[in-house]
Amino acid sequence: MFNLFRYFSTLSLILIGLSAGLLGVAYREISVRQLTTLAEERNMAMVRVFENAHGDQLASLLATSLGRDSDMLLEAPEARELQAGLARLMQGTATVGVTLYNRLGVVVFATDPEQVGEIRLGEQSLRTALAGTVSSDLIRHDSVGSTSARRTSRSDLLATWLPLGTPGQAAEGVLEVQQDVTGFLASFRRSQWIVTGVLVGVFGFLFLMQLLVVRRAQGIMREQSRSIEVSRNTLEVQVDARTQELRRANRLLEGEIAERRQAESKLNYLAYHDPLTGLANRRYFIERLEKSLVDAARKRHRVAVLFIDLDQFKQVNDSLGHVIGDELLVAVATGLSEHVRLIDMIARLGGDEFICVMEAVRTDDEVATLAREVIAAFDSPFRIGGHDLYLSASIGISVFPNDGDSVGDLLRNADTAMYRAKAMGRGHYHFYTPEMTREAQERIRIESLLRRALDNAELSVHLQPQVDARDGRLVGAEALLRWNSPELGEVPPMRFIPLAEDSGMIIPLGDWVLRESCRQVMAWEEGGFVLPQVSVNLSVKQLERPEFIDNLQAILNETGLAPSRLKLEITESVVMTVDNAFVLLDRLRRLGIGLALDDFGTGYSSLSYLKMLPVQQLKIDRSFVVGIGRNSEDEAIIHSVMALANSLEFDVVAEGVETEEQATFLTGAGCHQLQGYLHGRAVPAGEFRSRWSNLLT
Ligand code: C2E
Ligand code: MG
Ligand code: MG
Repeated sequence: MFNLFRYFSTLSLILIGLSAGLLGVAYREISVRQLTTLAEERNMAMVRVFENAHGDQLASLLATSLGRDSDMLLEAPEARELQAGLARLMQGTATVGVTLYNRLGVVVFATDPEQVGEIRLGEQSLRTALAGTVSSDLIRHDSVGSTSARRTSRSDLLATWLPLGTPGQAAEGVLEVQQDVTGFLASFRRSQWIVTGVLVGVFGFLFLMQLLVVRRAQGIMREQSRSIEVSRNTLEVQVDARTQELRRANRLLEGEIAERRQAESKLNYLAYHDPLTGLANRRYFIERLEKSLVDAARKRHRVAVLFIDLDQFKQVNDSLGHVIGDELLVAVATGLSEHVRLIDMIARLGGDEFICVMEAVRTDDEVATLAREVIAAFDSPFRIGGHDLYLSASIGISVFPNDGDSVGDLLRNADTAMYRAKAMGRGHYHFYTPEMTREAQERIRIESLLRRALDNAELSVHLQPQVDARDGRLVGAEALLRWNSPELGEVPPMRFIPLAEDSGMIIPLGDWVLRESCRQVMAWEEGGFVLPQVSVNLSVKQLERPEFIDNLQAILNETGLAPSRLKLEITESVVMTVDNAFVLLDRLRRLGIGLALDDFGTGYSSLSYLKMLPVQQLKIDRSFVVGIGRNSEDEAIIHSVMALANSLEFDVVAEGVETEEQATFLTGAGCHQLQGYLHGRAVPAGEFRSRWSNLLT
């Protein structure tokens, strides 16, 4: 810290010393000047007194001095008168000597007679006076050699030299008057000591006071600096703590912000993505497509929407469970995102429905290439949970702006096109055409016509024979529904059965077919024609109805047909879709009704399922029979189905047998029964009877 005390005490000591010295010198100077002036005025007053009293003698002495020696001067009467007169005048005054000089600097008269006759022209003050100017000087006079009795041994005299004569002209002489100022000087010196003492005292006191003040100030400064130091330290600690606090708060805030952002982006992600596959969801897709359409309309671009539906996904999901189903969907999503280059966006709309968007479409070929790429992504099987799952995709395509200018229209039309693709079989794509909409409308029309068909007796049951493979004996017949509509003509079941299933019409239709078939068999029997067994196709929707078995029981009771002569054909999907299929089938079995697994080989029945199923018969699907003699793979499948059936003790019937070659192969493979055009198409009951009763009899 700055040492104010040392600095200030040194500086003020120097300043006080200096100012005291200067003051002393000035005081002395002023005092001497005052003294000189005072004494000089006194001397001049004395001179006037001398001139008044002895002016004549003085003038005469001067006038006559020239050419006289000192004795003559001493002896001159004027000198004697002066001596006596001046002694009187000087009596009681401080004037102690008078000397008169002539123009030549010769002492012509002096109160000290020894000086008379001396020439003192060399003295400066004398020359000044001769030039006409009064001057004074303080001289020190030693008593040695002095004649005056009044003088002290050492005295201080003030001598004043005054020019005599007419002012303005050269002086005729000079009068020197000496005044004793010893006492005066002594008192002056005394007062000088006193003043010096007082000054030293005052300055010393001031110095001390200053020192005290400065020392206090230094103390205050030290205290303040200490308290500043303390405050600074405290402040630093506080600032430090506050900084830490702020940093912590900042970190917390940052963490919170990051968390919130994460939560927001998660929410956002969830709102716009399918949680299972991570693909865009329906909402995201719609928003994105809307933007694309606006953009495309402005740039006059075309945008393709590809509606992808997985074939057989439902079967996988039903037979292998939802976990595998979910994994499969994820694998499909990954496959689509990775392998399909041309996609601008892919989304999952739900279930097994995926959708792709292709922007800035130049030609339909480009879209077709994309569709083929999508289909190719399903070429190799998906390996999930130890299963190799073969899937395929059906794709419906709509293109903006031709097939619709809104997201809704494009989606609906792509969906319509997808149904068309599905109808073409597995792994196909189809562009939307306006006819499809017409067809959709047609479907609606068919549906409404179908509702009336039952009441209008437009429906009939045809029968197709099933024969023993070894001897061609009639062992049964499959009842196949026919609809002869006045408006539509003959409508194939593949066209109206799915519609009836969708609309729920299949329930009354199915019941009707069952009743009609049973009734027919019993009617024939009464007429002497015995059909050993009749097969009726059963829809999933029928089996799902809780009252189905009671209904069936009622029909059997009503018609009187023995349950063992009724066979129900169910597809694998029936087994997989209906919740308690095993229980229901078991009940049917207990009633004595026969069960056949229709279209066998096209679904996903697992062996373990198959083993537990209470069915007696497998129906090898026509698609394999077609391959006989042409496709060794189909033949191999037929062999393995036969092996499987043998080991599980199922009967096997082959459907769609059209040629002798097929019949021979199937018989050779061990197939028990045959059904197909080779042995007869499905025909009306009358025709069937006339054909087969002949053979029977
Ligand atoms: P499905 O049960 O597999 O019936 C066999 C189909 O193959 C019948 O077609 C039959 O006419 C046909 N078919 C039989 N032999 C041959 C052949 O040698 N060559 C060819 N090309 N085809 C042959 P249909 O009658 O058109 O019936 C088609 C499908 O409609 C049936 O397939 C069945 O799933 C369904 N269906 C028919 N009637 C009913 C019914 O009353 N109820 C239910 N739920 N579905 C029915
Ligand atoms: Mg069938
Ligand atoms: Mg079939």
